[in-house]
Order: sequence, then C-alpha cells, then structure tokens
Amino acid sequence: MATTQVKQGRKGAGRDFVGDIRIMGSSPAAAASLSPIGRGIAEMSLQLLPVLQTTLDIHQLIGLFHGHAKQVIHHDSVLYRHPKEGAGVSIGEPGRHSCTYRLVVEGAALGEIAFSRSRSFSAPEISLLECLVCALVYPLRNGLSYKAAMEEARRDSLTGVYNRGVMEAALEREVGLAHRYRSPLSLIFMDIDYFKSINDTYGHTVGDEAIREFARCVNEKIRATDILSRYGGDEFVAILPNTTLEGADLLANRIREGMMQSRGFAEMARGMRITASIGIASLEGGETAQHLLDRADRLLNLAKQAGRDCVRRAS
Ligand code: GH3
Ligand code: MG
Repeated sequence: MATTQVKQGRKGAGRDFVGDIRIMGSSPAAAASLSPIGRGIAEMSLQLLPVLQTTLDIHQLIGLFHGHAKQVIHHDSVLYRHPKEGAGVSIGEPGRHSCTYRLVVEGAALGEIAFSRSRSFSAPEISLLECLVCALVYPLRNGLSYKAAMEEARRDSLTGVYNRGVMEAALEREVGLAHRYRSPLSLIFMDIDYFKSINDTYGHTVGDEAIREFARCVNEKIRATDILSRYGGDEFVAILPNTTLEGADLLANRIREGMMQSRGFAEMARGMRITASIGIASLEGGETAQHLLDRADRLLNLAKQAGRDCVRRAS
C-alpha cells in the first residue's frame, strides 16, 4: 500500500475547526484505490498539483494555493506557519472563523495552515478544504527542503554563522541603507590570537571546537539585527546596523569578556587563555563597503601589533 491518509478533525474553541492532515507514502493519487475520500483527494490533487509544482518558493506556493482554493471554498485569509524552519506566510485579513490543519508527511511536521473568514465553515466545506490541502503538502515539503538547502548554502558549515559571500552582499546593502537614511553603521573585524598554536598544541579537532566556541561567544553578545560571518580561518566579521563607533567598542569589549568567562575555552585549552584581537570602524560619509572593510582590517592588524587581546578603533 503506497499511501495512507488519516485525517482527524474536531471542533476547537468557539466555532473554530482544528485538524491534522497526516500523509504516509509518496503518491497522493494512490489514495484513489482506498476510499471515496481518497478518490476526492486524488481528483483535487490532479487539478492543483501542476499549478503548485511551478514554484519552490513558500510565499508563492501559499499564494497560488490561496488563489485557487478560495474559488472552491471561499475564505478571506490564509496563514501558514512553520517556526522551526523560519517559514511564515500571511495573506489577507484574518476573519472570525477559522479552519486550521497541522500538516504531517511521513512523520515529518510541515507546520500549520489556517484559513479564516467571517462565516463559519460547514462540514462539507471542511472536507473539501482537507482535499485541497492534501494537494499542497508535497509541493510544500519540496519548498521547505529547497529553503533549508538555500539557507545552508549561505552558512559556514563549521560554525553555522553566515559565510563570507553573504557578508559581502549584506555589507553592500547595509552601506547603501546607512548612506540613504543617514544612520550609523559599524563593522568589527575579529581574529583569534595565536590560533595556530591551539591547533599545534591540542590538534585540529580542538582547533575546530575553539572556532565554534568563538562564534558562539560573539553570537551571544550581538543583536538579532547584526550580521555575523566567518570571513575565513579564524577571522570573523560582524556588521552592526544602527550602531555608532562607541556602541561597537562596547560590544567588542563585551565579546572579549565573554571569551574570558567561556567555560568551553577554559576546558578545551586546559588553562591557556584564548583571546582575540578586534578592529572596529564606523561608516564615514560617502565611504564604500570595501573601504570600510579595509579600514576595520587595518585596525585589526594594529591590535595584533599592539600585543593582541585588545580592540583598536578609528580615532
Ligand atoms: P595571530 O595571533 O597573528 O592571528 O596568529 P594565528 O596563529 O592565529 O595566525 P593566523 O590567524 O594566521 O592562523 C590561522 C590558522 O587557522 C591557520 C590555519 O591553519 C588555521 N585554520 C584555518 N581554518 C581552520 C579550521 O577550520 N579549523 C582549524 N582547526 N584550523 C583552521
Ligand atoms: Mg589568528
């Protein structure tokens, strides 16, 4: 048996409907052999699938689905959420009555989709909506896989922070925005001190762990709007939108304090202090992204020359 579909619905709080759509197997069309509901699902899938298969973009996919589904079952809004995958789409104004489905395919949760409107949904409408949602789940799973792969390609595999390419594109964008809105923008360039000796003394596995711990220490101190990237080897760059040189200086010193307090570093280097040198610069009038990056890099070199384990900023 290739496909099994189990749908469970209940009247939730008030007149809202909450249900699960669970699909096992690989072909929704195979459900046709199982039951009248299965055949209904197969028919709906056949009509909707070619449309939904035209995109891997979650926003577009939900938009296409909404556009087609509302012609069959009128609804004013659709809200799709999958917080674990960072996916969320909201179309239209939420109404008083809703119909919500938790989506599960082959044991994997795909998030939750809710339809709403001012009138309540009748039982036949709910059944039909379930049929339509069944056609959405496989394209949605493909879209979520694509989104995850795209996100992974933007990240450094060792630390999980953004890679250099993403940082360079983000810096161009942030520099443009800072000039346009005359808002401050700072950059901090960081490099672990004597990192080669960590590798040489404790081995590359501990070296890798030290790089990961450094990224964790920085991540712990920065804001959600800051963009942290691994520039290469033991070098990291953080872009700090809406941050003055003073603010960046404070942050740089908090990162150094965080490293001192890190139990991870204390354990992995058995008494040897792991430190970093940091160069910070703030965007000047008319300055390019590359120029700002070069200035922060030069300030990092000055911090190294000054004996390491310190911060150097443009005066
Ligand atoms: P300095 O204080 O001047 O920064 O000295 P340093 O020893 O840290 O010198 P440098 O920054 O040039 O050394 C970086 C070293 O990091 C060189 C390379 O062998 C090592 N490295 C680069 N990438 C990785 C990695 O992914 N894992 C590990 N374990 N080591 C790496
Ligand atoms: Mg170094």
